[in-house]
Amino acid sequence: MPPAAPILLTPGPLTTSARTRQAMMLDWGSWDDSFNQLTASLCEQLLAIINAANTHHCVPIQGSGTFAVEAAIGTLVPRNGHVLVLINGAYGKRLAKICKVIGRRFSTFETAENQPTTAADVDRLLNADPRISHVALIHCETSTGILNPLSDIAAVIAQHGKRLIIDAMSSFGALPVDAQHVPFDALIAASGKCLEGVPGLGFVFARKESLANAQGNCHSLAMDLQDQYAYMSKTGQWRFTPPTHVVAALHEALLQYKEEGGLPARHKRYANNCQTLLNGMARLGLRSFLPEAIQAPIIVTFHAPKDPRYQFKTFYERVKAKGFILYPGKLTQVETFRVGCIGQVNTIDMHAAVKAIADVLREMEVLDI
Ligand SMILES: *Cc1c(COP(=O)(O)O)cnc(C)c1O
Repeated sequence: MPPAAPILLTPGPLTTSARTRQAMMLDWGSWDDSFNQLTASLCEQLLAIINAANTHHCVPIQGSGTFAVEAAIGTLVPRNGHVLVLINGAYGKRLAKICKVIGRRFSTFETAENQPTTAADVDRLLNADPRISHVALIHCETSTGILNPLSDIAAVIAQHGKRLIIDAMSSFGALPVDAQHVPFDALIAASGKCLEGVPGLGFVFARKESLANAQGNCHSLAMDLQDQYAYMSKTGQWRFTPPTHVVAALHEALLQYKEEGGLPARHKRYANNCQTLLNGMARLGLRSFLPEAIQAPIIVTFHAPKDPRYQFKTFYERVKAKGFILYPGKLTQVETFRVGCIGQVNTIDMHAAVKAIADVLREMEVLDI
């Protein structure tokens, strides 16, 4: 008998619905009209989620989320540009690494992993260094679950006449952003996070003029969003082999997103998941790493129990045997583990996950309850 499907409490890949997985049972021709319509409909629906149709193009790109981030920076930052990278976790560090590898000048501003970047910080940094052309920010830093104050920071950057690139990978579709009120050149997300598709494609909302002016910027053929967009708008097709099954699954996931009630409903379900998790874990005496005021309802970092009998690997395997996949911590200084609140999961699943965690910690003689 095959093992029952585990529930993924991770930041992606995550638990998807049977209906979304079922949508992958058909093979599509990449030049076929019906597939091209699927892509066009996808882009239209994605733009609507952040009210960006008037100002931005949606450019999908093959690969995991990082491919889309690298494509956005490589395409939209000119070779003589300078990126200020705002860092409070591993994904912020990755932005800086991308700039370094593809040869864009950059500087970094790093705060502690439990410290959001503030608009005042960004104002000061932009005043101090006129070379900066672009600012890159992580909306929800998935390495802890911290939420950075996107709209305040975006407003300051616009006042300075600079450009903003947002990695909204783990927040898009669940936390509201209105492109007509939050000015940005690029906002980046992917199929396999809060939209509850399967992993395999990213997409970039690129400001129309910025994309039009980006010809020749990119260091790479495959990563060139300007070229990808130009080809797609001319032919309706992807430039290179599209991830057909991923597109079909995301299209189906978006139908369910709409049926559920769109962003407000998705946000509410995740917020309820997060609160159920926080309350349940607090009852077990397990402390979350972030104060609730800066905790996004996406993923929660918990301090590992101090008991010497606790070991993540054993803990992980035993919780997995009870049907839940957890995520290791990503902090260098403190021992932690993470539990995701996103995916096709609800408060019943979160209660069950907390119970599984409690049972395992009791079996490991870590919890005396
Ligand atoms: C998931 C994620 C990414 C992309 O990671 P991949 O492993 O390339 O999919 C980028 N930024 C953030 C904040 C993320 O949560």
